[in-house]
Amino acid sequence: MLTRLKQAAAVWLDSGKHVQHASDEDIRQIDLIRIFPFIALHLMCIGVFFVEFSWFAVGFAFAMYFIRMFAITGFYHRYFSHKAFKTGRIIQFLFALLGACATQRGALWWAAHHRNHHRSSDTEDDPHSPREGFFWSHMGWFLSRKHVHTQEQLIPDLMQFPELRWLDRFDMVVPVVFATAIFFLGVLLKHVAPELQTNGVQLLIWGYFVSTVVLIHVTLTINSLTHRFGRRRYATNDDSRNNWFLAVLTLGEGWHNNHHHYPGSVRQGFYWWEIDISYYLLKIMSWTGLIHDLKEIPAEVRAARKVAEA
Ligand SMILES: [Zn+2]
Ligand SMILES: [Zn+2]
Repeated sequence: MLTRLKQAAAVWLDSGKHVQHASDEDIRQIDLIRIFPFIALHLMCIGVFFVEFSWFAVGFAFAMYFIRMFAITGFYHRYFSHKAFKTGRIIQFLFALLGACATQRGALWWAAHHRNHHRSSDTEDDPHSPREGFFWSHMGWFLSRKHVHTQEQLIPDLMQFPELRWLDRFDMVVPVVFATAIFFLGVLLKHVAPELQTNGVQLLIWGYFVSTVVLIHVTLTINSLTHRFGRRRYATNDDSRNNWFLAVLTLGEGWHNNHHHYPGSVRQGFYWWEIDISYYLLKIMSWTGLIHDLKEIPAEVRAARKVAEA
């Protein structure tokens, strides 16, 4: 037990550490000791019943959700995983940092697993196909030993940046610093703006814990629910679907059947009525010159391989 705890702690502090497991252990099995931080993240949300309520804290939680969701969909997904646009090294780093605040591990780990998902969607090599059950596709896959480490061979283009490798390896650092900063912001606001009725612990619970848990689970629905529920426009070789409701919650990721049809596109809502907030924000960023070379979907690709109307 103590050895298991030590091993788990070593990987929390340095995710690059490889731990030897007994050869008879099932790598799809969930290691309850290792995932303790993930469980604690959820338990801390109960804190909302023990702190005084303020609308400021709720609004702050919403803002933290929105900003970090944009970093995940716009950058972890569309930039790091798919290279749907180009940017410089500083913006690349800043959004890797902001994405790391989402507590979904480093951009390299995220992008490598996601590239694998596109290579092998809904086959037995897919890291998180719902064909293996809802729980597995939602969170069993990353809570198991099978997907702890970053598959570096899938991301040679990203491995050349030492700053990204550092964020990926020490992936606990940014979330801890982020949560601590929110706590101190609450402490500060209690003194300089008492009318907001917030304080350190309240802002930490809402702005970090509640916001992060909701953010994580909504992100995960793209793996678990959009390969199950929604409409199929394109005859892709997988079960991906377009789901407008999840597209709203995830700032555009719900257009998942569109995305599997043409993953290289910066926009996932292929038509004007398909709301894709990340795309709008990326477009605005491109006007300022922060990002460039946005890859649009060619008209003939958008019109091709459609599922026949019934
Ligand atoms: Zn998918
Ligand atoms: Zn993708």
